[in-house]
Amino acid sequence: MLGIDTFERPIYAGNVVATVQSTDTTKVLTVRTTAFDAVTKQGASAPIEQLPPVADFGKSCFVSHAMAKSERPELTSANVVIAGGRGLGSAENFALLNPLADKLNAALGASRAAVDAGYAPNDWQVGQTGKIVAPQLYMAFGISGAIQHLAGMKDSTVIVAVNKDPDAPIFSVADYGLVGDLFEVIPQLIEKL
Ligand SMILES: Cc1cc2nc3c(=O)[nH]c(=O)nc-3n(C[C@H](O)[C@H](O)[C@H](O)COP(=O)(O)OP(=O)(O)OC[C@H]3O[C@@H](n4cnc5c(N)ncnc54)[C@H](O)[C@@H]3O)c2cc1C
Repeated sequence: MLGIDTFERPIYAGNVVATVQSTDTTKVLTVRTTAFDAVTKQGASAPIEQLPPVADFGKSCFVSHAMAKSERPELTSANVVIAGGRGLGSAENFALLNPLADKLNAALGASRAAVDAGYAPNDWQVGQTGKIVAPQLYMAFGISGAIQHLAGMKDSTVIVAVNKDPDAPIFSVADYGLVGDLFEVIPQLIEKL
Protein backbone atom coordinates (compact mmCIF):
# COMPACT_ATOMS: atom_id res chain seq x y z
CA MET A 1 0.00 0.00 0.00
CA LEU A 2 1.53 3.30 -1.08
CA GLY A 3 -1.29 5.58 0.01
CA ILE A 4 -4.94 5.49 0.93
CA ASP A 5 -5.90 4.38 -2.60
CA THR A 6 -2.63 3.35 -4.26
CA PHE A 7 -1.24 -0.17 -4.20
CA GLU A 8 1.49 -2.35 -5.67
CA ARG A 9 0.24 -5.43 -7.45
CA PRO A 10 2.24 -8.22 -9.11
CA ILE A 11 1.33 -9.03 -12.71
CA TYR A 12 2.77 -11.33 -15.40
CA ALA A 13 3.40 -14.15 -12.91
CA GLY A 14 5.15 -11.78 -10.53
CA ASN A 15 7.67 -10.50 -13.07
CA VAL A 16 6.30 -6.96 -13.06
CA VAL A 17 5.00 -4.94 -10.14
CA ALA A 18 2.30 -2.48 -11.24
CA THR A 19 1.39 0.55 -9.16
CA VAL A 20 -2.38 0.88 -9.36
CA GLN A 21 -4.83 3.42 -8.01
CA SER A 22 -8.42 2.61 -7.11
CA THR A 23 -10.88 5.45 -6.65
CA ASP A 24 -13.75 3.10 -5.78
CA THR A 25 -15.26 3.74 -2.35
CA THR A 26 -15.25 0.04 -1.54
CA LYS A 27 -11.99 -1.75 -2.29
CA VAL A 28 -11.68 -5.52 -2.23
CA LEU A 29 -8.07 -6.54 -1.64
CA THR A 30 -6.15 -9.76 -1.20
CA VAL A 31 -2.92 -9.53 0.77
CA ARG A 32 0.15 -11.78 0.83
CA THR A 33 0.52 -12.02 4.57
CA THR A 34 4.08 -13.31 4.67
CA ALA A 35 5.27 -10.51 2.38
CA PHE A 36 4.84 -8.04 5.25
CA ASP A 37 6.46 -7.77 8.65
CA ALA A 38 4.12 -8.09 11.62
CA VAL A 39 2.53 -4.76 12.53
CA THR A 40 3.67 -3.26 15.80
CA LYS A 41 0.87 -2.18 18.10
CA GLN A 42 1.82 1.48 17.72
CA GLY A 43 -0.05 3.29 15.01
CA ALA A 44 -2.37 0.37 14.23
CA SER A 45 -5.45 2.45 14.76
CA ALA A 46 -7.84 1.25 12.06
CA PRO A 47 -11.42 1.41 13.38
CA ILE A 48 -13.31 -1.87 13.78
CA GLU A 49 -16.87 -1.55 12.50
CA GLN A 50 -19.76 -3.95 13.09
CA LEU A 51 -21.73 -4.49 9.88
CA PRO A 52 -25.26 -5.95 9.77
CA PRO A 53 -25.50 -9.30 7.94
CA VAL A 54 -26.58 -9.08 4.32
CA ALA A 55 -30.11 -10.36 3.63
CA ASP A 56 -30.26 -13.99 2.45
CA PHE A 57 -31.45 -14.14 -1.17
CA GLY A 58 -32.16 -17.85 -0.78
CA LYS A 59 -30.14 -18.73 -3.86
CA SER A 60 -27.30 -20.48 -2.10
CA CYS A 61 -26.80 -22.43 1.09
CA PHE A 62 -23.89 -23.42 3.29
CA VAL A 63 -22.98 -27.08 2.72
CA SER A 64 -19.77 -27.62 4.63
CA HIS A 65 -16.39 -26.19 5.42
CA ALA A 66 -13.62 -28.57 4.34
CA MET A 67 -10.10 -27.86 5.50
CA ALA A 68 -7.04 -30.05 5.07
CA LYS A 69 -5.79 -31.13 8.50
CA SER A 70 -2.06 -31.24 9.08
CA GLU A 71 0.29 -31.40 12.04
CA ARG A 72 2.61 -29.11 10.12
CA PRO A 73 2.52 -25.32 9.90
CA GLU A 74 0.20 -23.86 7.29
CA LEU A 75 2.01 -23.52 3.95
CA THR A 76 1.33 -19.84 3.31
CA SER A 77 2.34 -18.67 6.79
CA ALA A 78 5.16 -21.13 7.64
CA ASN A 79 8.62 -19.78 8.45
CA VAL A 80 10.24 -22.68 6.65
CA VAL A 81 8.98 -24.47 3.54
CA ILE A 82 10.53 -27.67 2.18
CA ALA A 83 9.41 -28.21 -1.40
CA GLY A 84 9.87 -31.10 -3.77
CA GLY A 85 9.56 -31.42 -7.51
CA ARG A 86 9.41 -34.05 -10.21
CA GLY A 87 13.03 -34.87 -9.40
CA LEU A 88 11.78 -36.83 -6.38
CA GLY A 89 10.43 -39.39 -8.84
CA SER A 90 7.55 -40.90 -6.84
CA ALA A 91 5.17 -40.36 -3.93
CA GLU A 92 7.26 -42.80 -1.86
CA ASN A 93 10.40 -40.80 -2.52
CA PHE A 94 8.55 -37.57 -1.75
CA ALA A 95 8.17 -38.88 1.80
CA LEU A 96 11.97 -38.49 2.14
CA LEU A 97 11.23 -34.82 2.79
CA ASN A 98 9.20 -35.62 5.94
CA PRO A 99 12.11 -36.09 8.40
CA LEU A 100 13.75 -32.92 7.10
CA ALA A 101 10.50 -30.99 7.54
CA ASP A 102 10.16 -32.47 11.05
CA LYS A 103 13.63 -31.24 12.01
CA LEU A 104 12.93 -27.71 10.76
CA ASN A 105 9.25 -27.52 11.79
CA ALA A 106 8.55 -26.79 8.14
CA ALA A 107 5.53 -26.91 5.88
CA LEU A 108 5.77 -29.11 2.80
CA GLY A 109 5.33 -27.70 -0.69
CA ALA A 110 5.50 -29.07 -4.20
CA SER A 111 5.84 -28.06 -7.81
CA ARG A 112 2.88 -28.50 -10.11
CA ALA A 113 4.66 -31.32 -11.94
CA ALA A 114 5.00 -33.19 -8.64
CA VAL A 115 1.33 -32.60 -7.84
CA ASP A 116 0.19 -33.61 -11.34
CA ALA A 117 2.25 -36.80 -11.09
CA GLY A 118 0.50 -37.65 -7.81
CA TYR A 119 3.61 -37.31 -5.64
CA ALA A 120 2.03 -34.66 -3.42
CA PRO A 121 -1.48 -33.38 -2.66
CA ASN A 122 -2.95 -30.54 -4.65
CA ASP A 123 -2.99 -28.08 -1.74
CA TRP A 124 0.81 -28.26 -1.47
CA GLN A 125 1.30 -26.68 -4.90
CA VAL A 126 3.41 -23.54 -4.89
CA GLY A 127 3.35 -21.16 -7.82
CA GLN A 128 1.30 -19.09 -10.18
CA THR A 129 -1.64 -21.49 -10.05
CA GLY A 130 -0.88 -22.70 -6.53
CA LYS A 131 -0.04 -20.92 -3.30
CA ILE A 132 2.17 -17.86 -2.99
CA VAL A 133 4.66 -18.23 -0.16
CA ALA A 134 7.41 -16.00 1.22
CA PRO A 135 8.93 -17.88 4.19
CA GLN A 136 12.21 -17.08 5.93
CA LEU A 137 13.65 -20.22 4.35
CA TYR A 138 12.51 -22.03 1.18
CA MET A 139 14.29 -25.24 0.26
CA ALA A 140 13.66 -26.65 -3.23
CA PHE A 141 14.63 -30.25 -4.02
CA GLY A 142 14.45 -31.49 -7.59
CA ILE A 143 12.57 -28.43 -8.81
CA SER A 144 13.76 -26.94 -12.11
CA GLY A 145 12.55 -23.42 -11.36
CA ALA A 146 10.02 -22.79 -14.12
CA ILE A 147 8.76 -19.21 -14.17
CA GLN A 148 5.34 -20.34 -12.90
CA HIS A 149 6.96 -21.95 -9.86
CA LEU A 150 9.22 -18.96 -9.17
CA ALA A 151 6.12 -16.73 -9.16
CA GLY A 152 5.04 -18.50 -5.98
CA MET A 153 8.27 -18.49 -3.97
CA LYS A 154 10.82 -16.00 -5.24
CA ASP A 155 10.03 -13.49 -2.47
CA SER A 156 11.25 -15.95 0.18
CA THR A 157 13.98 -14.47 2.37
CA VAL A 158 16.53 -17.25 1.84
CA ILE A 159 16.21 -19.75 -1.00
CA VAL A 160 18.17 -23.00 -1.03
CA ALA A 161 18.08 -25.17 -4.15
CA VAL A 162 19.34 -28.70 -4.69
CA ASN A 163 19.36 -29.89 -8.28
CA LYS A 164 21.60 -32.20 -10.26
CA ASP A 165 21.48 -29.91 -13.29
CA PRO A 166 23.89 -26.96 -12.87
CA ASP A 167 21.90 -24.99 -15.46
CA ALA A 168 18.55 -25.36 -13.70
CA PRO A 169 16.81 -21.94 -13.61
CA ILE A 170 16.08 -22.34 -9.89
CA PHE A 171 19.73 -21.42 -9.28
CA SER A 172 19.07 -17.94 -10.69
CA VAL A 173 16.94 -17.09 -7.63
CA ALA A 174 18.76 -19.27 -5.07
CA ASP A 175 20.86 -17.72 -2.30
CA TYR A 176 22.48 -21.11 -1.78
CA GLY A 177 22.62 -23.66 -4.58
CA LEU A 178 23.93 -27.18 -4.41
CA VAL A 179 24.49 -29.16 -7.60
CA GLY A 180 23.97 -32.73 -6.52
CA ASP A 181 21.73 -35.73 -6.29
CA LEU A 182 18.92 -35.05 -3.84
CA PHE A 183 18.86 -38.72 -2.81
CA GLU A 184 22.37 -38.26 -1.42
CA VAL A 185 21.94 -34.71 -0.15
CA ILE A 186 18.71 -35.14 1.84
CA PRO A 187 19.98 -37.93 4.14
CA GLN A 188 23.20 -35.96 4.72
CA LEU A 189 21.24 -32.83 5.62
CA ILE A 190 19.02 -34.77 8.02
CA GLU A 191 22.10 -36.27 9.68
CA LYS A 192 23.77 -32.86 10.08
CA LEU A 193 20.65 -31.30 11.59
C1 LIG B 1 -0.39 -21.79 -16.96
C2 LIG B 1 0.62 -22.59 -16.17
C3 LIG B 1 0.60 -22.50 -14.79
C4 LIG B 1 1.53 -23.21 -14.04
N1 LIG B 1 1.52 -23.09 -12.68
C5 LIG B 1 2.47 -23.72 -11.97
C6 LIG B 1 2.53 -23.57 -10.55
O1 LIG B 1 1.69 -22.92 -9.90
N2 LIG B 1 3.54 -24.18 -9.88
C7 LIG B 1 4.51 -24.93 -10.51
O2 LIG B 1 5.40 -25.46 -9.83
N3 LIG B 1 4.44 -25.09 -11.85
C8 LIG B 1 3.46 -24.53 -12.57
N4 LIG B 1 3.40 -24.74 -13.93
C9 LIG B 1 4.27 -25.79 -14.51
C10 LIG B 1 5.69 -25.31 -14.76
O3 LIG B 1 5.76 -24.72 -16.04
C11 LIG B 1 6.68 -26.51 -14.71
O4 LIG B 1 6.26 -27.49 -15.62
C12 LIG B 1 6.79 -27.14 -13.33
O5 LIG B 1 7.03 -26.16 -12.35
C13 LIG B 1 7.96 -28.13 -13.36
O6 LIG B 1 8.01 -28.80 -12.14
P1 LIG B 1 9.38 -29.44 -11.65
O7 LIG B 1 10.42 -28.37 -11.56
O8 LIG B 1 9.09 -30.25 -10.45
O9 LIG B 1 9.69 -30.50 -12.82
P2 LIG B 1 10.82 -30.51 -13.94
O10 LIG B 1 10.77 -29.26 -14.74
O11 LIG B 1 10.66 -31.80 -14.64
O12 LIG B 1 12.17 -30.46 -13.13
C14 LIG B 1 12.65 -31.52 -12.35
C15 LIG B 1 14.02 -31.11 -11.87
O13 LIG B 1 14.52 -32.10 -11.00
C16 LIG B 1 15.91 -32.22 -11.24
N5 LIG B 1 16.29 -33.57 -10.78
C17 LIG B 1 15.91 -34.76 -11.31
N6 LIG B 1 16.43 -35.77 -10.58
C18 LIG B 1 17.17 -35.19 -9.59
C19 LIG B 1 17.96 -35.72 -8.53
N7 LIG B 1 18.08 -37.05 -8.33
N8 LIG B 1 18.60 -34.85 -7.71
C20 LIG B 1 18.50 -33.51 -7.90
N9 LIG B 1 17.76 -32.95 -8.89
C21 LIG B 1 17.09 -33.80 -9.73
C22 LIG B 1 16.08 -32.03 -12.74
O14 LIG B 1 17.40 -31.62 -13.04
C23 LIG B 1 15.05 -30.94 -13.00
O15 LIG B 1 15.62 -29.65 -12.91
C24 LIG B 1 2.48 -24.04 -14.68
C25 LIG B 1 2.49 -24.11 -16.09
C26 LIG B 1 1.57 -23.40 -16.81
C27 LIG B 1 1.62 -23.48 -18.31
